[in-house]
Amino acid sequence: MEENMRKAIYPGSFDPVTYGHLDIIQRASKVVDELIIGILVNKTKKPLFSMEERFSLLQETTKEFPNVTVKTFEGLTIDFARQNGAKLIIRGLRAVTDFESEMQIAQTNHSIAPDIDTMFFTTCLEYAFLSSTIAKEVAYYGSDVSLLVPPVVAEAFRKKYNH
Ligand code: ADP
Repeated sequence: MEENMRKAIYPGSFDPVTYGHLDIIQRASKVVDELIIGILVNKTKKPLFSMEERFSLLQETTKEFPNVTVKTFEGLTIDFARQNGAKLIIRGLRAVTDFESEMQIAQTNHSIAPDIDTMFFTTCLEYAFLSSTIAKEVAYYGSDVSLLVPPVVAEAFRKKYNH
């Protein structure tokens, strides 16, 4: 039974989670049996939200999906997939600008681990422009982020930027 389960990982920085990520999570969770969100510990990037904060925001915003779990990982995405017995990596594609780097990552991963595939979901038009970076910028200047991120994330921004 366990062997036949279609497990996937969805890796990223999620600094913080946006409606764009949640759209991918919601759609991907319907085509796999289990979806494991992996928050990457990237020592070269300085995130706005700590790992604990990103973790709890993701947990809070995905609790309605029974087959979605949140984990953190360091190192290669394919190793994280293997540790979790997943053969699929989920990624989101926003615009053509995402395409080149995503292709590069997917092809590299596939050449190292031919048994693991990457599945892309194209973003819905509403969130095609949305990234965590954009949300952070809007929040930094105290503008309304309610169309970009869920209420708990908007609240976390308010605390972070003292608005
Ligand atoms: P990274 O730092 O690896 O780009 P992110 O957390 O920004 O990680 O994104 C994780 C994944 O979610 C990536 O595949 C990214 O393309 C996708 N993604 C981010 N924002 C959106 C969005 N608005 N619509 C669809 N996919 C998105």
